[in-house]
Amino acid sequence: MKRILTGDRTTGHLHLGHYVGSLSQRVALQDDYEEFILLADVQALTTHFNNPELINDSIYQVAIDNLAAGLDPEKVTFVQQSMIPAIAELTIFYSMIVTVNQLSHNPTIKTEAKNYGYKELTYGFLGYPVSQTADITFCNADLVPVGEDQIPHIELSRKIVRKFNDLYGTTITEPEYKLSAVSRLPGLDGNAKMGKSLGNAVYLSDSQEVLAGKIRNAVTDTNRISVKIPGNPDVCTVYTYHKAFNSEECDNVSSMCRNASIGCVACKKLLAEKMNSIFDPIRERRHYYEEHKDEVRDIIKSGTAKANEIGNRNIAEIKEKMHVVI
Ligand code: SF4
Repeated sequence: MKRILTGDRTTGHLHLGHYVGSLSQRVALQDDYEEFILLADVQALTTHFNNPELINDSIYQVAIDNLAAGLDPEKVTFVQQSMIPAIAELTIFYSMIVTVNQLSHNPTIKTEAKNYGYKELTYGFLGYPVSQTADITFCNADLVPVGEDQIPHIELSRKIVRKFNDLYGTTITEPEYKLSAVSRLPGLDGNAKMGKSLGNAVYLSDSQEVLAGKIRNAVTDTNRISVKIPGNPDVCTVYTYHKAFNSEECDNVSSMCRNASIGCVACKKLLAEKMNSIFDPIRERRHYYEEHKDEVRDIIKSGTAKANEIGNRNIAEIKEKMHVVI
């Protein structure tokens, strides 16, 4: 089986944007690929270096969200990033051959720095595509699932690996990307992106009531100021959610909206009920793992140990080829 490396920054609970954009695909792929799920606590430090307690708790929360979404710990491998020395070593080695220009001109770095409001970039933030390359290659992953915005990172990773292999005669796998088929879920406020920092997210850990309340307050077609006025689902955030979570009824919802035979309150209620029926089993699994944190810790520790066996073997071969072993 080909190996996939994917994962999440451990900066808090995962939301439905993560579920639609990546978790649901991880679940679908777990029978056909060997999946490594990276709990990216080092990468979390690039933006949350002053809040290590949050990162520590989030290692559990992110693992629990992935397990609750349906990942089977017998099939996938959970890996705590900071506990893999091979990643740290590869990051150092790669940083010798990547240029500052390659990093500072990376469009994703520029956009993210702008979004975070950074005037001056830390060395760690600027260099995170280098550490991401180490994440992918310490275990010779073949594939990385990505959204459009992450493609420049993988292209940079491929360049780094190619240069490194040419220089030292190593045989590190040049990773391919697997473009995410699902488009991004907008935030409740209509923002194109759902995000923790934007305050517009529904979380996998939200209760039925919290989810229903959030949907009740979600932005709709703002021109539809009365139930008697026909709406336009194409500009309605709630309708985007219908398409993501209620696909079998969304054509019907669209016509009812356009001919004003359903009001926004009823439309949102219908959506919330459907979403709650999808997320109830996820909540149940979440509850189980919350009550069995020891089990979660064992899953993370045994996955990390397995990843270290692979990483230690690979880094030893790489150092041999680099002639740094005396
Ligand atoms: S009826 Fe539904 S789809 Fe139409 S504007 Fe209201 S919430 Fe959106």
